[in-house]
Amino acid sequence: MSQQTVYTFGGAAPHDDPRQRDKTITGGKGANLAEMASIGLPVPPGFTITTEESVRYLRQGADFSDALRAEVSNALKHIEASVGKSFGDAADPMLVSVRSGARVSMPGMMDTVLNLGLNDATVEGLAKTSGDERFAWDSYRRFIQMYSDVVLGLDHGLFEEALEIVKEDNGFYADTELSSDDWRALVAEFKGIVEQEQGKPFPQDVTEQLWGAIAAVFDSWDSDRAKVYRRLNDIPADWGTAVNVQAMVFGNMGDTSATGVAFTRDPATGTRAYYGEYLINAQGEDVVAGIRTPQYLTKAARETANAKPLSMEEAMPDAYGELARVFDLLEGHYKDMQDIEFTVERGKLWMLQTRSGKRTAKAALKMAVEMVEEGLIDEEEAVRRVDPMALDQLLHPTLDPDAPRNVLTTGLPASPGAAAGKIVLDADTAEQWSQLGDKVILVRVETSPEDIHGMHAAQGILTARGGMTSHAAVVARGMGRPCVSGASGVSINRETRTLRIGDKELKEGDEITLDGAKGQVMLGIVPTVEPELAGDFGTLMIWADKLRRMRVRTNAETPDDCKMARQFGAEGIGLCRTEHMFFEAGRISAVRQMILAEDEAGRRAALEVLLPEQRADFTAIFEVMAGLPCTIRLLDPPLHEFLPHSDEEFSDLADATGLGVDHLKRRAGELHEFNPMLGHRGCRLGITFPEIYEMQARAIFEAVCAVQKESGEAPLPEIMIPLVATRRELELLRALVDRVAQEVFAEQGARVEYLVGTMIELPRAALMAGEIAHEGEFFSFGTNDLTQTTLGVSRDDSARFLAPYVDKGIFPRDPFVSLDIDGVGQLVEMAAERGRATRPDIKLGICGEHGGDPASISFCEKVGLDYVSASPYRVPIARLAAAQAALAAR
Ligand code: ADP
Ligand code: MG
Ligand code: MG
Repeated sequence: MSQQTVYTFGGAAPHDDPRQRDKTITGGKGANLAEMASIGLPVPPGFTITTEESVRYLRQGADFSDALRAEVSNALKHIEASVGKSFGDAADPMLVSVRSGARVSMPGMMDTVLNLGLNDATVEGLAKTSGDERFAWDSYRRFIQMYSDVVLGLDHGLFEEALEIVKEDNGFYADTELSSDDWRALVAEFKGIVEQEQGKPFPQDVTEQLWGAIAAVFDSWDSDRAKVYRRLNDIPADWGTAVNVQAMVFGNMGDTSATGVAFTRDPATGTRAYYGEYLINAQGEDVVAGIRTPQYLTKAARETANAKPLSMEEAMPDAYGELARVFDLLEGHYKDMQDIEFTVERGKLWMLQTRSGKRTAKAALKMAVEMVEEGLIDEEEAVRRVDPMALDQLLHPTLDPDAPRNVLTTGLPASPGAAAGKIVLDADTAEQWSQLGDKVILVRVETSPEDIHGMHAAQGILTARGGMTSHAAVVARGMGRPCVSGASGVSINRETRTLRIGDKELKEGDEITLDGAKGQVMLGIVPTVEPELAGDFGTLMIWADKLRRMRVRTNAETPDDCKMARQFGAEGIGLCRTEHMFFEAGRISAVRQMILAEDEAGRRAALEVLLPEQRADFTAIFEVMAGLPCTIRLLDPPLHEFLPHSDEEFSDLADATGLGVDHLKRRAGELHEFNPMLGHRGCRLGITFPEIYEMQARAIFEAVCAVQKESGEAPLPEIMIPLVATRRELELLRALVDRVAQEVFAEQGARVEYLVGTMIELPRAALMAGEIAHEGEFFSFGTNDLTQTTLGVSRDDSARFLAPYVDKGIFPRDPFVSLDIDGVGQLVEMAAERGRATRPDIKLGICGEHGGDPASISFCEKVGLDYVSASPYRVPIARLAAAQAALAAR
């Protein structure tokens, strides 16, 4: 039997089907509406068409199935019976909203159509039954406006202009000043616009209206906006969206009616206080659209903001009391902060949406920790709940509290964090400039879903209009971008591409800094300070550490990076690259002499100069890492990367070596490679020029012995041979390292522990891991190169085609950001198994960029790696992700 495609909720609908509670089937909005109705909250009755049905519809070439038509018609009867009105009844019409609702909330999907079911006949009926002509005609014009925009695809500007002209002609300021006759006249004008634009009249048949809206929701899944959002948020194309059709309730029925948006706790700071905005005599998105300035929900918030218009708590105490009760009920039920939409119709409260609210990382940590203290959730749940990637927001430098600030203006603190960069005035410019390497701040009057790509490209967002729940504020918080909204001191001139902030005249390209936590806009770039793990962040990290199995190391090659990583909780170095040490001023000349030397003796002479320098580098790092394992990779890149380029560099080198420029250029030419990534690099250098690895091994052992003598505690060096493909390579180089170790120990009269192992970064190494493990005491998966060599894709050249590849679903995500688990992952898993079969206590870790990516970390847990290694700023992310992976594995 085929699965049910439509589920009813509210009224007398049953709510016992687990599929209806499943967000993957009924979408986030639909599942939660049904859930709220089932715990007795006032939800207008309605029905949900499943996400599966939208996928089927799109696959079938935009065609509705007969089963769907039949089920929808039955479900409509459920709404009609519940509200006691009929759809399309001219005397007493039932009206509905049509709302999209994917698994996760997605800007980019079709906008909601409200008041559907109105036409020239039913509007008269609505006027009579409500006893309010103004309301009926206001609703009808809203419906025509929305339907024409989102379903018929007509330019909404045409309708807005017509409305503006009526307002100007009459000297009105707010929409609420228009009379029923004004609205009636405007409806006639709107219908005229529709007929002119699409060459046929506005649909009067309510069934046609309904199916038109349903199709528009389905189609919006494949809109450009939705695709961009999916790509940015790793949402697969085959999820589809549900459609919710729901009886209308009206917040625009006069002064005892209202509509609002609320959070059960402050989503910016995490403070436990109701938070939100509402508007009297308004409908739907009026609150977020920025047409009228919304009013505060609570008296306390109004007083703090020093605002005049009454809060809901003061203006509608009964409905507010009911709302507060619902807040507590919902938090208790979902055990999480809820983001709620509600409407008050003539004093009665109706719930229109609830979902776990988006929050800043700071708020997420505070709520998680406080909810544990309140007994609402336990430590494990708190650890599960914080998105590791969101921590990134807190792991960046913040504004130096002691630095002077030239504050130009102050707006609303919509999304915390510091952002500095050049002003850009539109989303495309934001994207272009940021691709060229500029840091930019997007400054707009207000933002809309078309701006998503620019908001993503920007460091921060500043808007002149809009409240704390405006599009800019909500999206910025979700993306973790600092945002100052509603900064009325900002005025933009789009033609001249200039703007005024406070008293200052500025132009696109000028630099400003935002403090999203204070709402401040400052001139120039304000200096920053490093972050630290204190307070709630520290607490959650301790809980995470108790739960994780894998160790977390860092990829670091300077003492400063090591110190930072240790403050962030790193438990060792997973990858210390040594090549950058060769580039340092004063050394590069010796390096070049070594490379261009004609023979071994020439190379050894140059390496003699480098030895004390490398030893000093390692000593400084080991002092910071005493007592911890440190994986050090011997020289990896092809030698010609170190060669001189300019004539000046060649002549400097000629002076230093006494060799002629022509001779040097010829030698350099000999080192040219066609495909250096697959050329003379990695352990191939160690095989052909063993003296280079000898020098490096000597520098490492001398440094370890020195640190041990000095402090009594040595790190555990793990010497890593890169780019091994065969057992014999590792056998030869391991013997070299062991020999140098013995020499140094004899000279120093000391002895330290060490390991020799290899990076697994070639498919052959993964295949031969069982053999290679005879020689290597550890494997570190170098998944950057392993991805390149397995996919045959050069990371540095992939920018041009990877984004389209991800768009077309060829790769679910950029495989250099998140491990290709299906392909590269198999090699990792196989190598781990084969390595362990040969050497049961072999140490296994990952050191590619993937070591800081939560999805890849979760894979590492499944394969049973001993540790992951991430860049210093990602260490806390990896600690939390490792804990979540351990929890998931239980
Ligand atoms: P979004 O996903 O963009 O939030 P929604 O479907 O939640 O879109 O609807 C947009 C607005 O319309 C919200 O403010 C919501 O409260 C309002 N709305 C939706 N359905 C109804 C309804 N049946 N009656 C009254 N208002 C509604
Ligand atoms: Mg909504
Ligand atoms: Mg490599």
